[in-house]
Formats: sequence, C-alpha cells, structure tokens
Amino acid sequence: MSDVSFTTTPQAHFPPAGTGFAAQPTVQRVYPALAAKLADEFTGLDLFGRVAAIRSLVSGRIVFTTSFGLEAQALAHAIFSQGLAIDVATLDTGRLFPETYDVWARTEHRYRVRISVFTPESNSVERLVAKQGVDGFRSSVAARLECCSVRKVAPLARILDGSVAWVTGMRAGQSADRAELSPASFDKHRQLIKANPLFDWTREQALEFVKTQRVPYNALHDRGFLSIGCAPCTRAVETGETERSGRWWWETAGKKECGLHAAQSGVTREDLTQV
Ligand code: SF4
Repeated sequence: MSDVSFTTTPQAHFPPAGTGFAAQPTVQRVYPALAAKLADEFTGLDLFGRVAAIRSLVSGRIVFTTSFGLEAQALAHAIFSQGLAIDVATLDTGRLFPETYDVWARTEHRYRVRISVFTPESNSVERLVAKQGVDGFRSSVAARLECCSVRKVAPLARILDGSVAWVTGMRAGQSADRAELSPASFDKHRQLIKANPLFDWTREQALEFVKTQRVPYNALHDRGFLSIGCAPCTRAVETGETERSGRWWWETAGKKECGLHAAQSGVTREDLTQV
C-alpha cells in the first residue's frame, strides 16, 4: 500500500508459515497468543525495539495509522529510521488543519517516503453535507458520529483491510477511557492484532523523544493543541485541562455517552477518537 518498500529478516512468525491468516479458528486461537507475546516483548524495550519486535513477530501486513500528532510522529520516526516493512497510512477527512498537511509534507521530505492516504467516499460526503450542512456535526452527538463515520470510520476500514496487525499511537495516560490500554491485544471486531507501543509513555516522554530525535512535529502543539484532529472539532486547551478536552469540546460528558450507541452498529468510541 505504501510507496515505502523495505524488507526485514523476521526472527519468528505467528501464525507459523502455512497455517493461513484467513482461517477464523486460526486467527482466534493464534492472534491473542501473539498479542500476549508482543506485550511481553515490549517490556524493557525502547520504542525502536518495540516496533522492530512487532515486525519480527508478525507475519503479514502491518499498518500504522498516523494522524501526525506527537505520538504518531515518534512512531513514524521509529519505523522509517529503521526501514521497517510497516505500511504507514493516514486519513484525510477533508477537514484537517493546514498545519497538519504541513507536517505531513515535512515528514515525507525528512524520511523520503510517501505516506498512503485514504479519503472518504465522495458520494458519502456529498450526501452527508446535503443532509446536515457543512458543519452539521455541531448540531447533535448523533450528527457528529455520522460525520465521523463517513469521514473516519469508513476509510479506516479500507486502510485496515487485509492487515494482520494495526499499530496505533495511543497512550494510557491520554484519557480515563484509555487508562486500561493494553500494550497489545486481539481486536475481535476487526480480527487483527492491535499494538500500542506507546501505551506506557507520558506526553512528556513523547515530546522529549520528538525533540531529541529532531522529528518534524505539528506547529499547533506549540500553541496549546495537545491532541489534534479535524480543524473544526479541535481547539487548544487551557492549563489544567485534560489532554483530549480540546476535542469536540462543545459536547458535555453526558452527551458523549451517546457515543456508545455507535458501538451497536460496529463503530466504537475508540474508532472515532484515535484518528
Ligand atoms: Fe467530522 Fe469533526 Fe468527526 Fe472530523 S472530527 S469527522 S469534522 S465530526
């Protein structure tokens, strides 16, 4: 998928060659064990070692989805600088900040790569805007979830199609919802391994890593934006506010609970907030 083409020398593979990734019983038996092994492997490894361990242990396509935030940039550096065969892809919702496109371009230039882009289906966006208006997501939680579904969740499904493992930049410390985040787990809904190599990092660690390694980062981070998503749905946070309080800030805590309704149709709150 990515224009980046690298090779590695895997040390061990799960499932073993010839067992077949597509076989559901194999997936459900082997992937949880592999996720547990990955979680063990992460202990004592730095970020470079963790992403290398994912590539070494997992056979098949691995995708890292980047939003070009601080954590994503740290992960991109660890992947690109080691030449790992991990596809790096992003969602262009059509509503991103100019600064996000800027760091996207600087990242491609720095590492001499192309990052795969997935966009919403044009017909779906046209129907969405015709129905709710250009900024209709502010009218209700349901409208917001509908926008996220069209612009994020549907393209995400295409990104992950055919993947064995999904690497994310999530940290347990980002919010109460993520406090129990696993280093790696089996995603039953998508039937793949989800790896979170930054699960135990603090924001300060990510910032120090990015600065020490001279990794390009989004200029908005220097203006109080701790978590960066779509432009109309993200604001800077004040001192003392939580990291993700600048996302969909107009929604009250009670209204955000309505996001659980989306899970009933296969869309989880996590789907909507991690990209
Ligand atoms: Fe739409 Fe806002 Fe969700 Fe982006 S974050 S997809 S603009 S509702």
